[in-house]
This record gives sequence, structure tokens and C-alpha cells, in this order.
Amino acid sequence: MSIERAKAVLDGARRILVFTGAGVSAESGVPTFRGGGGSAVWRGMDATELSSARMVGSDLKLVWEWFEYRRGLLASCGPNPAHQTIAEWADRFSDMTLVTQNVDGLHDKAGSRDVLELHGNIWRGRCLACGALERLDDTPLPEVPPSCSTCGGKHRPDVVLFGEFLPEDVFKRATAAAERAEVCIVVGTSALVFPAAELPLVAARNGASIIEVNPEPSGIGGPLSIMIEGRAGDVLPRL
Ligand SMILES: [Zn+2]
Repeated sequence: MSIERAKAVLDGARRILVFTGAGVSAESGVPTFRGGGGSAVWRGMDATELSSARMVGSDLKLVWEWFEYRRGLLASCGPNPAHQTIAEWADRFSDMTLVTQNVDGLHDKAGSRDVLELHGNIWRGRCLACGALERLDDTPLPEVPPSCSTCGGKHRPDVVLFGEFLPEDVFKRATAAAERAEVCIVVGTSALVFPAAELPLVAARNGASIIEVNPEPSGIGGPLSIMIEGRAGDVLPRL
């Protein structure tokens, strides 16, 4: 029944915001290295420590070795029906914005364009010297840390690490999309962590309908939201 209500809301909508998190990629076999309680351990080190701004300053090579391990796991993961459905929605709605907390690039792979990546992208490097961004699609990389093809400086992963803020311009564009959205669909994230949790709230304050697709309700959209319990890969194609 909530599926029918959600379909009715979407049928009349032009401006939508889709906000995705780890739950979307879990169905592609992407492991989660953060959140969910226990932190992962790699080579005897805490993943939280390895993925920190401090470690970029003290041992950039080790950070890249850790990221190369993750990139190696991700290389065999492909988009699932949830990613594919979201990519198709770009044609269905005249104004659709996709905001993700995921760094795995699977929305890209599914064909989504102009994805607002709140936490960056693991397939991109950012030069510590000149700030240039560079796609680094090959794994393993020929050298770590990889060198900037613009200035020869060293790249760091273009991912938001522990101890860092979200990229301001990306968050601004996401907030603007939330303000004008008629419908905000939250998929595979409990979105309880500030500031990302702001987006559905901003959308709701500006009159948007909230549709939440999660295995369990997070209560994110408040009492007026439409909650669809289930896996994103099952639910989204039905919408
Ligand atoms: Zn550079």
C-alpha cells in the first residue's frame, strides 16, 4: 500500500531529490568500512584511523595502500537494480538531483550523471599541491601515492576522511535541490548523521513529500513520510 502511495506522489512530481547511502551499495556486495558499530580492522589497524586526515599527513603511502585494498574489492562490484532505476529516473523527471553518501562510484557506473557526492569518490585523486582532481580508475595503481599529471605533486584520495568537513560547494548544491524538491526519496541510509541528515529535513520544511526506502524505518521524514520497508534493489524498480 505504501508503494501505491509513493507511486502516486511520484507520478505528479517534476522536481525530485534522491538521497542514497550504504544500503544501496550493500546489495552490490560493497563492504561497509564505517558506521554500524564495530569498525573494520586492516593489517592490525583500525579503519577509522587509516581513513583519517591525520594519517594523510603522517603516512600517505599507507593511506593509499588501504584505499587500494578497498578499490580492489570494489573493482568486482557492479551496480544493482536500485542504481539502474535511479539512473533511469533522470529521464523520467525534469529536475532530478542525486545526492549520495557513497564513495564507490556505482551511481556513475549505472549511468547517473552529475552525482553530488557528499563524501567524495574513491576512484578519484586530489593533488595535495595544486588541488587538481584526477580519475584514477586502474587498480592496482602503478605507484602509490599516485602523482598528479598536472604538476607532479602527490595525490590523496578525493574522499572525505574522519576529521574533515563535507565539501562545501557540493553540500550547497544538495541543499538547494532539497529546497526546491517536491519529493525527497531517501534510500538505504538512516541519514541520522549531521550534516547529511539535514537534507530530508530541509526538503520536508519546504513542503516536499518524503519517501523512505529502508529495511527498517529510521523515522527520518517524520510522521508524514511514506515508509517502504524493503531492499532498495527490490523496491525502486517497482516505483
Ligand atoms: Zn597537482
